[in-house]
Amino acid sequence: MRTKLQISFMLIFKKVADIQAYLSQQKPAGRGIGFVPTMGALHAGHLSLIKLAKADNKLVVTSIFVNPTQFNDKEDFEKYPITTDTDVAMLIEAGCNVLFLPSVDEMYPQGTENMPVFDFGYLETVLEGAHRPGHFRGVGQVVARLLDIVKPDSLYMGQKDYQQCLVVKNLLGQVAGGNDIEMIICPIIREADGLAMSSRNRRLTDPQRAVAGTIYQCLISILSKAPSGNFTVVQKECADLLADKGFVPEYIALADAATLQLLDNYSATTQMVALIAAKLGNVRLIDNMLVEADS
Ligand code: AMP
Repeated sequence: MRTKLQISFMLIFKKVADIQAYLSQQKPAGRGIGFVPTMGALHAGHLSLIKLAKADNKLVVTSIFVNPTQFNDKEDFEKYPITTDTDVAMLIEAGCNVLFLPSVDEMYPQGTENMPVFDFGYLETVLEGAHRPGHFRGVGQVVARLLDIVKPDSLYMGQKDYQQCLVVKNLLGQVAGGNDIEMIICPIIREADGLAMSSRNRRLTDPQRAVAGTIYQCLISILSKAPSGNFTVVQKECADLLADKGFVPEYIALADAATLQLLDNYSATTQMVALIAAKLGNVRLIDNMLVEADS
């Protein structure tokens, strides 16, 4: 009996010129390149994006780059987990074809001062935009640069970062060739207790981890009261519950899912999204859930 030997490999590029040369030679016809930008410290949430990209594309490119310009909190940047060896092993196992692993100098050879600045209007002023000044400018900068390097056909982003998805969708309308890129928003992958997977979860202590699923319970509770409940009441209950478990909530919001305009109460006609950001010690967690108008 013959056994089929499967050899998996992945190319790793650290230089812009090298990945560009490779991709321009290898660019497959049709729906060719699926791109998954990440900051590493990979988990099953990231791998789900890679799996979806693999199903739809001939070549999957992942980037790992902890982009300094999108961190408004110095400590968050300095403590961001770096686990490159394990990440590489996970990417090979998941069937990723190409990893782009650039340095800061490679990404921003002229520094970041002269990089284009994108304006995302209202999206920069609300929720994450309000609590993390400058964050989305940094996201715009790094995603525009990565898209220019990789030139993908499809871009895979997680609903976990809901507002970021809206910002990047907006960005695609602002960059050359952006309208030709299909953006696929992938479902949130959760731990057994509902905690949305995140690289930052590694920084939780055991007691913090034990209560971290409370954010998910709050989102479920917001969802369960739609559409006839009183959002202000649920919002207060969630704030109290989170505070009771040791969180410092930054926002517990209900918004129009398409525009992120904040809503005072449930709407029977608008597709909504509930969004929560809360700090547990010095770890900031975010999560969200779509709330159907007729749920
Ligand atoms: P990050 O490394 O945190 O920048 O995330 C890279 C991509 O993975 C982003 O598009 C995230 O939205 C997505 N992502 C992060 N966590 C999850 C998750 N739990 N489920 C699905 N996608 C996720």
